[in-house]
Amino acid sequence: MKSPSLPLSIYSMHSKVDICLPSLSEQSTFDAAINFLKLFGETDEQTYSISLVDKHVLTLQKRAEIGRYIARHVKDIHAISELGEWLKRMANDEIFYVLPKCTPQVEEQVKFNLLKANTPDFDQGTHEVVQETLVEIQKNYRINIFNEKTASIGEPDKQKRVCLFCGEANPKNYQRKAHAISESLGNKLLVQYEECDTCNEKFGKTFEKDFANFMLIFRSQFGVSGKKGIPKQEGKHSVEFSNIDNVFCVRINVDSDDVPEEYLPHQIHIPITEKVSLQGVYKTLVKYCISLIGNEHREAISTTAKWLNGDFIWNKQLPNVAKLLDYYFFTDKPWAICYTRTSDDVRLPKFTIEFHFLMFVFVAIVPFVEESESKFIDETSYTYFWNTMTHLKRSDRWMFLDYSASEPRTINFTFNMTQKVSEEFLTLANTSSACSDPYPPESQTPPP
Ligand SMILES: [Zn+2]
Repeated sequence: MKSPSLPLSIYSMHSKVDICLPSLSEQSTFDAAINFLKLFGETDEQTYSISLVDKHVLTLQKRAEIGRYIARHVKDIHAISELGEWLKRMANDEIFYVLPKCTPQVEEQVKFNLLKANTPDFDQGTHEVVQETLVEIQKNYRINIFNEKTASIGEPDKQKRVCLFCGEANPKNYQRKAHAISESLGNKLLVQYEECDTCNEKFGKTFEKDFANFMLIFRSQFGVSGKKGIPKQEGKHSVEFSNIDNVFCVRINVDSDDVPEEYLPHQIHIPITEKVSLQGVYKTLVKYCISLIGNEHREAISTTAKWLNGDFIWNKQLPNVAKLLDYYFFTDKPWAICYTRTSDDVRLPKFTIEFHFLMFVFVAIVPFVEESESKFIDETSYTYFWNTMTHLKRSDRWMFLDYSASEPRTINFTFNMTQKVSEEFLTLANTSSACSDPYPPESQTPPP
């Protein structure tokens, strides 16, 4: 009898690779399959058996072994090339799991373990601190992690759906797929069933568009493919940004090859062509949070849903949005952690989202829940909240930004270039790998 193939998944903090090992009775792929098992397993010489080890650390040696395996077997097993892409994105000593296909519950646990294990300054010495930290957080919040591999959310049966944002219950108004996190950020699979077509269309044309434009340069830089493919952002006349085969290209158009160095720019200002409402950016983060957790909490988020829907205009202050730019957290697929307060401490927000996209992390409080519009605006109440997010506080590079302004405005990004970088970049369409840092993080000025 032909032995079945074995579906395996490799989980790391920011990505997952699915690999289907071919049946061991398949002669042509036997070596590839056995070597894969040897790579991630322990061989018992006595019994001639290999048992798969679930938890691994990507040491330099392990990285080299995997690299050699890929080079040798890339032609034999479909998806081995994906393993190569995954390997490039992995940090040294990052922890990952190799598991047979598992249930969503087990997956959730694995992601949680990864979050624990990959906290920035994690090492054996801080392990206990990290665990204590998570215990601390869980005193106040329930933590849910969502990424593209999370099962779709909400009521699958059209007859029973009620829109989270407007209350629509007519099954005819659920013809389209509503993505819980915008498709333009590269999320193809994570769907919220209970967002009606009307809201879906409206949000896509309003605040989700603000967020997509806000991130346009970066989506372009890292080749995030949305519905219309990878966006191309052109600067004012002379500077062009594009992504060619995962390579970030800056092209500066000059009339002659013979331009003296002093005429070449050391700073490039890139206005985003479309105007962006910063409140729209805030609304998008909140909408993601509601899409991800909202079904259980319809009552609590009803005012927030009206705000998203434009039923009322908010011209007053909103809580700050915390933003971190850190390549350590680089992720090629958007993912999020939602914090739902479970304690009775009403000085803390009921819902908060931590949203990861490329090298950005945003933390936004869901406003208009439990009179929270009056909270988290003054420094004291915001600091009280921030102090409970002990794992986030570990970085001192957070920016706390006011995204209350609703009127659309032009956003300018300024990239400072050192002469060395300029020279490199000025050779037309010069290359830098998708993971490397084309400009130091501090050179990106926060939006006004
Ligand atoms: Zn709706």
